[in-house]
This record gives sequence, structure tokens and C-alpha cells, in this order.
Amino acid sequence: MEPTPCPLFIGGEWIKSRLSSTPVYNPSTGDVIAECPAGGAAEVNAAVEAAAAAFPAWRDTPAVERARVFFRYRQLVEENFDRICRCVTREHGKTLAEARGSAHRGLENIEYACGIPSMLFGDTLGNLARNVDCETLLQPLGVCAGITPFNFPAMVPLWMFPLALACGNTFVLKPSEKVPLTAVLLVELLEKSGLPKGVLNLVHGGRACVDALLTHPKVKAVSFVGSTPIAKYIYETGTRNGKRVQANGGAKNYIVVMPDADMPRTVEALSTAAFGCAGERCMAGSTALTVGAAAESLMPSLISAARAIKVGPTDRAAQPDMGPVISAQHRERVASLIAMGEIEGAKIVCDGRLLRVNEAPRGFYVGATVVDNVQADMALAKEEVFGPVLNVMRMEDLDGAIEMANRSAFGNGAAIFTRSGGAAREFKHRVKAGMVGINVGVPATMAMFPFTGWDDSFYGDLHIQGREAVQFYTQQKVITSRWFGGEVGDVWKK
Ligand code: NAD
Repeated sequence: MEPTPCPLFIGGEWIKSRLSSTPVYNPSTGDVIAECPAGGAAEVNAAVEAAAAAFPAWRDTPAVERARVFFRYRQLVEENFDRICRCVTREHGKTLAEARGSAHRGLENIEYACGIPSMLFGDTLGNLARNVDCETLLQPLGVCAGITPFNFPAMVPLWMFPLALACGNTFVLKPSEKVPLTAVLLVELLEKSGLPKGVLNLVHGGRACVDALLTHPKVKAVSFVGSTPIAKYIYETGTRNGKRVQANGGAKNYIVVMPDADMPRTVEALSTAAFGCAGERCMAGSTALTVGAAAESLMPSLISAARAIKVGPTDRAAQPDMGPVISAQHRERVASLIAMGEIEGAKIVCDGRLLRVNEAPRGFYVGATVVDNVQADMALAKEEVFGPVLNVMRMEDLDGAIEMANRSAFGNGAAIFTRSGGAAREFKHRVKAGMVGINVGVPATMAMFPFTGWDDSFYGDLHIQGREAVQFYTQQKVITSRWFGGEVGDVWKK
């Protein structure tokens, strides 16, 4: 099969690249399906210049007209929804149901951007002093850039460019070189929605491309989502170069199970939180903290649920429960972390390393894995595994569970399963995480709420999504005006 083309989009032109490239795999089969061009400073410079040239006209386009582009985009994304989800599945390996769920979260971000006119209201105070009025305007920044990870090829880019553009900025998107094809499709659809040339540009590549964006003097703001070491690097380099930066990093999310929890529902939620998207999500519930007697009632059905998960290729009609991980190297990393846990004394009660997928022997598979008796100092407890591995740590009481969760360097998500309002209240107030679930295993926020990672899960001040993101993509201007001539009140005398 011919590799799928992976062009750049600069100044409204699709450019077939002659650059060297890196392979894009279908993780279900291990086949190479495309070559992603390894762009660098030249491509980034062309894209930023095109975005800078398009900025004045786009900035001056009324917000209602900018919103109309996104109403059309919403329609086109919905009409092409199945195509987008198949593309996500093919280059990432998620099941179609998972691709649909996450792409829908992306669609909601487009819908949010459609409401931009009423999100750009400023404040006014008339007659602030005699004959003086004061008002605020929210104005766009200029050229913004988005750098995205492999694990949500549609959703994460859609967290960024619709709202940035709706606010009146122009944009350069650099998707993960492991999943560039969905980004091409999303940009094609926005072009068809009537976006003027140069307003959105697409470049491909890795570090060279990212560094060129972080140091380009015309880039005003950078949105990043990816692993913690790179998020930190992006934040430090971007801010040192005078840019506004929001950088989402990795995570390690804890789920506390109290003895009074509804166990069948907790098992279902835990299994989805740990093994959904093969554990490759920043909101994965990767550690269960069982409190007191909870472990006895939880473990047998949790192990059965993990063993029942069917793993296989996601690029065909019969869909499994779980697909592959992103690459052969990543599969090896996950397997070696499980092995390290075993050496350090944890108990592997369901071992996904033993899985063989006969219908796709070259695919990158790890089965659902449950590791019991994990201790705080083990690598499995500290590192983000980013695979279908659920750690179980046994705690005496809720205090101990909260303390354990709060020892993490990360602070993305945390959840509790309980029937007790008191326990839930204690947990939500004391746990150190930006997104908290009460009987909700994956409390990932929707478009109208910010995605509020804390600590090593986020570097910056204003988060992605919601009103915080509108603030991130705009700057305030305060206008103080005085008109000479009449005095306020004169009109009433006439
Ligand atoms: P990654 O950090 O390897 O890559 C992310 C982006 O950074 C890619 O576009 C990549 O090309 C670029 N990049 C990689 N190495 C670089 C380097 N040395 N210098 C400059 N740029 C570089 O992340 P990934 O493996 O694609 O994605 C998985 C990670 O993303 C996980 O840690 C996951 O938790 C995290 N993630 C976080 C969130 C969140 O909202 N907090 C959401 C999704 C994923």
C-alpha cells in the first residue's frame, strides 16, 4: 500500500515535503503507513511569516464572522467524524469507540469557540472621574503555536487552534511526528470552512521544529501538551524567549477505593480508567489505593475484569476492548517497568506481558496488567508508565491514602469511590490534584472548564480550555477616555 501523504500547510498552500522523514506506524499491525517530514527552522520560519502576514486582517475580522468559520467547521467535522476517527485509530491504535469519545471532546472545543463573541466582552465604568470613562478590550496576541503529543491526535490539537483562532490570533500547529495524519485532516477541513490563507499553518517534525518555534521572535504564545521533561523544557525555553507559555505535562493519577464503595461500579470504572486507551492518557487512573477491607472485596473481580479484556487490532470491523500501545519501544519500556516491579517485590496478579495477538503478530501489544502490593519507593509507583498497568497499593485509612496520593510529584487527576459524603468531602479538599473525581474514574474536564493540572503536570499560569484559555490567547487593554466640551448632566438641563 502507498504511504499516506503528509504535507505541510503554509500560507494556504499544501506543500509536499522533500525533507528527510520519520516513519509513522499503524500500531495494530506494525506496518509503516506514512513518512512524517522532519521540518526545521526553514519550514517554521515560512509558517510563522505566513501567520504574521495573515494576522492584521484576521484580527480585524469581527468576532461574529470569525465564529461563523467555526460554525461551518463544526458542521464539516461532524460530517467527516467517521473518517477522522478511523484516521486516529489507524495511526494511534485506539479502538474506534475510544477514538469517537476523544474526537467528540475535540468537537466540543470547536463548539465552545463558536461562542467567542460573548467571551470577548470587556468591562466599562462610565464617568470614572468627571468626564472620564474607562473600558477594557480583550485583544489577540498575534502568532501562537501549538505542539501536541501522540496520545490524542484529534482532541489535543482541537483544544488549541479553534479557540486561539476564534480569539483573533493566527496559528502554527506542530503535531506529534508519531501521529501527523489526523492533524492534516483537521487542517484540510478548516481550510474548507473558509478560513483565510495563512491564518492556520501546519508544520511537521521533532525537536528542531519545536526549537525554531520557541525561539522565533514573532511567536507570541506557545501551547504545549506532552511529557513532563519536555513540558518543563518548553516552559523554560519559551518564557526565556519572551513568550507566554502553557505546558501540560505527564501524570500519575490515584484512585482511592473506600470499603463502602459500590464495588461492581468501582471495578468497571477502575478498569476503564486504567486500561482505556491502553493506559496512554494523562488522566489514566494508574494506581488504586484500597482502604482497609476494600481490597478483599475489590481484588477478585478486578482481576477477572482485567483478564476478560480482549486485546487486538483496532483497524478492522471486529473491535477489541483494547488496542496496542504506540510503538515497539514503548511496549518494551512498559514491559521493563513491570519486570522492575516484580524484582522490587510487587506481585503481578494479571500479567499483560504474556499476551500474544496471533491475528497481528507484528503489532505493539501489551495486555491489561494488575500489580498488587506496590510500595511507594518502587519505580512503578513513581514513574508515569503510560501503558495498561494498574498498580494496587493497600492503605490502612483515608488519611494514609491521601498522604500517599499527595507524595506524587505530579498533580493532574485523583478520584475517590465511596458512599460517604464525609470521606468524599475530606478527599476533595485535601488531595493535591487539579481535577478530582467523586465516583468518577476519569475526571477529565470538558471544553467549558479548564484542564487544571498542578505541580509537575503543568507549567504556566493559565490552563488549556475554558475561560482561562480565552485569557491565555488574549491580552487586555484598558482605555481611559475624556471628551472635552459638555459636562455629564448637561443633557438633562436642556
Ligand atoms: P512527548 O513529550 O514525547 O512529545 C510531545 C511533543 O513534544 C511532540 O510534538 C514531540 O515532537 C515534541 N518533542 C518530543 N521530544 C522533544 C524534545 N526533546 N524537544 C522538543 N520537543 C520535543 O510526549 P508524547 O510521548 O507524545 O505524549 C505522551 C505524554 O503526554 C505523556 O507524558 C502524557 O501524560 C502527556 N499528556 C499530557 C496531557 C495533559 O493534559 N497533561 C494530555 C495528553 C498527554
